[in-house]
Amino acid sequence: MQNSEIKTTCSYCGVGCGIVVTQDSKNGVEVKGDESHPVNKGMLCSKGMNLHYVVNDTSDRILYPEMRWSKSHPKERVSWDAALDRAAAVFSSIIKKYGPDSVGFYVSGQCLTEEYYLVNKLVKGFLKTNNVDTNSRLCMSSAVVGYKKTFGEDCVPIAYDDIELADTFLITGANPAWCHPILFRRLEQHKEKNPKIKIIVIDPRRTDSAALADLHLQIIPGSDIILYHAIGKRLIEKGYIDNDFIKNNTENFKAYKDLVLSSSFEKASKLCGVSVSDIKLAADIIGKAKGFISLWAMGLNQSAIGVDKNTALLNLSLVTGQVGKPGSGPFSLTGQPNAMGGREVGGMANLLAVHKELNNPIHRKEVAEFWGVNEISEKPGLTATEMFDALESGKMKAIWIICTNPLVSLPDSRRVEKALANAKFVVVQDISHNADTSKFADLLLPAAGWLEKDGTMTNSERRISYLPKGINAPGEALSDVEILIRFAQKMKFNGFNFNTTEEVYKEYCLMTKGTKMDISFLNYNRLKNEGTFQWPVPDYGHPGTPRLFTDKKFYTPSQKAIFNIPTAIENTSEQPNAQFPFILTTGRIRDQWHTMTKTGKVSRLMTHIPSPMLEINPIDAYKSAIHTGDIVVVTSKNGNVRVKAKVTDSIKEGVVFLPMHWGKQLDNDLNRTNNLTNTVVDPISKEPDFKFTTVSITKYVKP
Ligand code: SF4
Repeated sequence: MQNSEIKTTCSYCGVGCGIVVTQDSKNGVEVKGDESHPVNKGMLCSKGMNLHYVVNDTSDRILYPEMRWSKSHPKERVSWDAALDRAAAVFSSIIKKYGPDSVGFYVSGQCLTEEYYLVNKLVKGFLKTNNVDTNSRLCMSSAVVGYKKTFGEDCVPIAYDDIELADTFLITGANPAWCHPILFRRLEQHKEKNPKIKIIVIDPRRTDSAALADLHLQIIPGSDIILYHAIGKRLIEKGYIDNDFIKNNTENFKAYKDLVLSSSFEKASKLCGVSVSDIKLAADIIGKAKGFISLWAMGLNQSAIGVDKNTALLNLSLVTGQVGKPGSGPFSLTGQPNAMGGREVGGMANLLAVHKELNNPIHRKEVAEFWGVNEISEKPGLTATEMFDALESGKMKAIWIICTNPLVSLPDSRRVEKALANAKFVVVQDISHNADTSKFADLLLPAAGWLEKDGTMTNSERRISYLPKGINAPGEALSDVEILIRFAQKMKFNGFNFNTTEEVYKEYCLMTKGTKMDISFLNYNRLKNEGTFQWPVPDYGHPGTPRLFTDKKFYTPSQKAIFNIPTAIENTSEQPNAQFPFILTTGRIRDQWHTMTKTGKVSRLMTHIPSPMLEINPIDAYKSAIHTGDIVVVTSKNGNVRVKAKVTDSIKEGVVFLPMHWGKQLDNDLNRTNNLTNTVVDPISKEPDFKFTTVSITKYVKP
């Protein structure tokens, strides 16, 4: 290690905990929580405190570029020059023959901001296609649209420090106790010190987060909007609303009021599976709050009506005037460490850098001028699932996959398998051989991992941190920035004459000048010397901005926040039927991360839940004579899995749960949850509906 101690940021979830890295006696590294860090104050969760195992164990790493000349040949070791010459030649010839939209890049919320920026510049600016999307599409794109529709721009308005200032929390569609553990620990500590604070959890499962709640509303999956509207109705009827804020700072309240007042508590109770008294109690708790924070994640976002769920929840903050003041506001939780950074640099097929819009001709012109290119294509790029559809149908010929494992993480895995098999050319740029997707690579590029490269990330509260390089990557692995620059230079593109990651960051920061997320006064020196900053940072002496909208001026043309009326109130997912009577919902477990390519190799993280288990309610289990430990076959119209059952009353009757992490580690793929999931997406955000797939359950009988 170059320095005896390095301060950096955890590479797992969007909480963004500070980590101190030191050298151990065997030349490896050790990690501990950074006590001076504003996010975690020294705490780390099980994943963070075991990060050093992932760094120190290089046995699975890709050490040099590997290439195959045709699908029937095995991959062989090649030099970087040969690898990138081939990539440039194949991409050029495919684009020449089939047009720019025949290629695409699929990247990750684990990429650093500079990598994200560069790949978007390369693809949108120079390859002349907008086919660049990210696995963050799978976790927060509905929240992005929800914020834009309500506040005029994609922005999380509050900070973690607001947690200790609030007295009422609504956790909905999230299990932060397992998925954002340090953030949850701060909430737990706040409640330990202030037992009177109230926590409401809305979730079909009685999770560890629900265990801390004063009120758990165990809803039927998909009924969230109906519940939020019933809460809104009660708030209005009881006068728990902020009339001044509504009058002066919002639009469209009348339409919202008319809509929710026309709803019925009894109907809501039936559709949500929650008693009228509990709905009213939730509303009364929220209505009496001095500081009200809503926290949500995939339970809202990963839905056929994900955007509408987001705006319906945001309406509760507007109706109570709980925005722009200490200890209040809506707070979407990002799953990945730099999902937020990806949003900032336009890391999705429909976005441009610095929150500019692809469908806005002025924005396209501004970005094109900044990058020194003639134009940005006006054609929307393909989103995550659309790219794999296009590969399967043959419309797209080549894909470059960076730092993500779509074979396990995208819905309907067997369709993804077909798509990758059908592609003419697949590039996989990753750190390890663990990702199942790498088996489909025609070109496998070894990338540097956490601690082996430098760059920046932004956590869930808009906090930007600098991650220094501490150690060299094994073998010939290069940083993603260097790989992208070398490829761009092979393609003879101007505009990629960067010598360092810092130079990429400087260009990106300059681009933010004058925008709502201005960080043009931020640089690596300030991040290294002064620590983390929450954007915007619109001045040299500016300390960053923990809280937005303190002046109640929103980013809409009228500067007022907007009450949105959902297009769909009831869930539009395919409903249970005689063939598939159960609703499958999927999610994370405490000690695993995504598709387990990192956490799966840490033995102590495998002890918590060593294999996937289907959670099933005792009443449902009784009807099929299923007991805990029995092997069951779960079948949807897309496929099946074979896993052990766990009978538990923590899940609602009619609903079953499977963790999303496991892939094809066995000699078959029968533990891969996404064999089952449907391909429905939200019509606006294009985020997949992972929380609602209809399935059947049968006890496995050995043939
Ligand atoms: Fe890392 Fe998230 Fe755990 Fe913090 S809470 S240590 S960021 S995984």
